[in-house]
Amino acid sequence: MNTEIMNINKKENVVFLTFKELEKYDFLKHAVSTRHGGISNSEKTSSMNLGLKTDDSVETVKENFRIFCNATALNYNNITLANQTHSTGIRIITKEDVGKGLHIQRDYNDIDGIITNLKDVPLMIHTADCVPVIFADVKKQIIGAAHCGWKGTFESLSVKMAEKMKAKFNCRYEDIICGIGTAIGVCCYEVSEELYCKFKDRFCDFEEAFEIREEKYYLNLKLLNKLQLEGVGVPSRNISVCDICTKCNSDELFSHRALGDGRGMIGTFVSLK
Ligand SMILES: [Zn+2]
Repeated sequence: MNTEIMNINKKENVVFLTFKELEKYDFLKHAVSTRHGGISNSEKTSSMNLGLKTDDSVETVKENFRIFCNATALNYNNITLANQTHSTGIRIITKEDVGKGLHIQRDYNDIDGIITNLKDVPLMIHTADCVPVIFADVKKQIIGAAHCGWKGTFESLSVKMAEKMKAKFNCRYEDIICGIGTAIGVCCYEVSEELYCKFKDRFCDFEEAFEIREEKYYLNLKLLNKLQLEGVGVPSRNISVCDICTKCNSDELFSHRALGDGRGMIGTFVSLK
C-alpha cells in the first residue's frame, strides 16, 4: 500500500491505518482495519474480518474485534455500530445505545450514520469498497461516523451528518474535521452510463469527480464526499481523503469488487478519549 495521507501502523500482527492529520488531535482516537492480524482463515475473510454477516462465526468475529481493540487501545466493551442499509438515517448514540450491534441487540434500523458526545465509546462503520467517513468537532468534541456507498453519496449523507452535528450540538462547520477512509478509487469504480449520468445531473459542479476512460464510466466517490462537505462550509484543509484504493489493494483490504460475496469487512473506528 502506497499512501501519503495515512500512517500504516503495526502492533504485534495487527496492521491498521490512521489519518496523519487526525492523529494531531489529543482528544480523538481512530483506526481503520486492514486484513492483517485476525483469526479468520477463509480465503475471503482472512484474517481480520470485522463483518458479522459473513460465514465466520460470531465468536470468531468478536475475537477479531477484541484483538483489534487491544492493538489500537479502543474500548472493546463500548463498541457501538450503525445498522447499515444504504439509508440516510442518522442516530445520536446515547448511554442506552452503548454496545449495540456487537454486545447487545440493536433496536434501530436504517441507520447509516452515528454521532455521539460520549467519551470512550468507539463508533464503527463497516465497509468493503464503500466510503467510510469519520467526523470530529475539535472544539465541542463531538464525533461521528457514516457509511457512504453510492447511495449515501448520492443522497449527500456526509452533508446530512454535518448538518445533524450542527442541529443537535451546535457544531460549526469550520470546526469539523473529517477523514474519508479506505474505499474503491476512481481507478476502479466503474459504473453504468445511467448511474454516471444520474450523478452528473445532481453534482454538475463537481466535474473533477467524473472520469470517462475508453468509453467506460468512473465515479470518484471519495472526492464527491469531500466536495459536498466543502460545499456547505467544511474547510478543504479539514478534510483528509485516503489515497488507498480497496480494489487495487485487495490483499491488504477487503474489497467487494475484487473478492465478491462472502468477503470480510473493514472496520473504521472513531472514539473520544
Ligand atoms: Zn483501484
